[in-house]
Amino acid sequence: MKKILLIATGGTIASKYTPDGLSPQIDAQELLSYVPSASEFCTVDTLQPFSLDSTNVSPGHWLELARLIESKYEYYDGFVVCHGTDTMAYTAAALSYLIQNNRRPVVVTGAQKPVDLAITDARSNLLDSLRFASHERAHGVSIVFGGKVIAGTRAKKEFTKSYNAFSSINYPDIAVIHDDRIIFYIDDKDQNTRPLVFSHSLNQKVFLLKLIPGTDGTILNSLFDAYDGLILESFGVGGLPNYGDNSFLRAMDRWLIAKKPVVMATQVTHEGSDLSVYQVGKILKDRYSVLESYDMTLEACVTKLMWALGQSRDISSVRELFCRTVNHDLLFI
Ligand code: ASP
Repeated sequence: MKKILLIATGGTIASKYTPDGLSPQIDAQELLSYVPSASEFCTVDTLQPFSLDSTNVSPGHWLELARLIESKYEYYDGFVVCHGTDTMAYTAAALSYLIQNNRRPVVVTGAQKPVDLAITDARSNLLDSLRFASHERAHGVSIVFGGKVIAGTRAKKEFTKSYNAFSSINYPDIAVIHDDRIIFYIDDKDQNTRPLVFSHSLNQKVFLLKLIPGTDGTILNSLFDAYDGLILESFGVGGLPNYGDNSFLRAMDRWLIAKKPVVMATQVTHEGSDLSVYQVGKILKDRYSVLESYDMTLEACVTKLMWALGQSRDISSVRELFCRTVNHDLLFI
């Protein structure tokens, strides 16, 4: 029988109704009591490092979770992290960068409804997660939600209320789960023979700027001193506006000279960036060495840049780390 560590961190799955709204109140052991049939295929220990609405989860918590998994890694066959859905995609992406080449599964899950309701997705998501984490072929960081297994770098919350809240962006689901059956679409456990690596630092000084028509490029100057990396969430396949004042390109010179990485990402969810297509984008690549999100999710871009800047301050190393494929995050390069 597989040995699983269930790490509960709060979220709706563990919440109860209070006069002030839903808040996490149900601990890890109680969560487990709602899925008694899990004992047919695994034994489960529980831990509760924190209990938060995931709105309050920040990079320090991602590091805490990675360290916890590292300290318990040799004692368990798999890990299930119960987490709020709102920032789950960020946590799963961050864990994908902090824990690499893991042959044991780290499954992040949660629910749209609390586990103690009569009608809820919580019990099936939790049971599916324990089942997937107990599977011989499962590995790496993933999200299990609504019957789907999604690579930890590819998930996006696309619905605020429906049970099928998460989609895999620009990449197939790793597997689907129907009752007690797991059907793998990507079964690549034997392909990654690189050694397991845990990272212990992230650089939080990353800013994400979403452009709207008319954004003044001098905003980049206001961000310059406070941040070590910048992600521009622009339009379509990517580019920067020139409203006649050249304000964006002039501001970009500062970032380039200071060797601070700038990444072009897109507001469009599917198919990714391609700066080589238009004049408004090509100049950024040719003259400013701007990095691209390509087919990565925004959540992956943000956490990958924090991770890359946490490993090195040397711009060429940061660029190399950012452009390397990790846990299926990047195909189009
Ligand atoms: N606000 C909740 C959270 O992210 C939403 C959820 O878990 O579904 O913690």
